[in-house]
Amino acid sequence: MVIDGLGTPERAWRPFVDALRLPALSLAETPDRAVVVAPHPDDEILGVGGLLAMLAAAGTRVDVLAVTDGEASHPGGSVGPERLAVLREPETARALAALGVNATTQRLRLPDGGREELEQPVVDALQLEPGTWLLGPWRGDGHPDHEAVGRACATAAIRDGARLLAYPVWAWHWATPHDERVPWSRAAQVNLSPDIRSAKARAVAEFVTQVRPLGPLDADAPVLAPHILERFARPYEVVLT
Ligand SMILES: [Zn+2]
Repeated sequence: MVIDGLGTPERAWRPFVDALRLPALSLAETPDRAVVVAPHPDDEILGVGGLLAMLAAAGTRVDVLAVTDGEASHPGGSVGPERLAVLREPETARALAALGVNATTQRLRLPDGGREELEQPVVDALQLEPGTWLLGPWRGDGHPDHEAVGRACATAAIRDGARLLAYPVWAWHWATPHDERVPWSRAAQVNLSPDIRSAKARAVAEFVTQVRPLGPLDADAPVLAPHILERFARPYEVVLT
């Protein structure tokens, strides 16, 4: 999987996903607790921010496991990794607040870009009661950190009897409609109300270090450029069950 260039445009995804007629994720019975795992700060909001808001509104306790501090988002940029980690930390809290999610956040501070190194510490950090919903990155997402954390989530969910819901982030970039590498048959849709959708937009905008240039250099360009953000401004989220 190659994550470069502009990736698949959102205008190509929308008719395809609509035609799939995915089942809606049932929120008729919501869990007491949900744990969302973020390889990098912002992944959890892009992937399932709307779902988090809906669960919190339904009374589910939401906990965040932040695997890395996302310090490697701008290699060679004007802001060094240590400073970037400091700047990024409060962005998550502000984003969760915008979604009305009063979450506790556990930070593992593992290295951004740690790939396989991230897997076992995440397995060890997750302690889930049976029936907890575990929202983690999809293990086929194409980014090595996301895949390692996704594998860890799958392992922990089986061990603890949790319900795993995997969210794609970068698959929307490298995959194409009808792509056989994506298990569309296991996909479910979380439909977002206009209020939730606008709360998610406000939440995403809180990741200032990712949505705005960090400085004047080419390496300061926003990671979350408009063509990427478009994919996460949909009126629905997709999870793999
Ligand atoms: Zn990420």
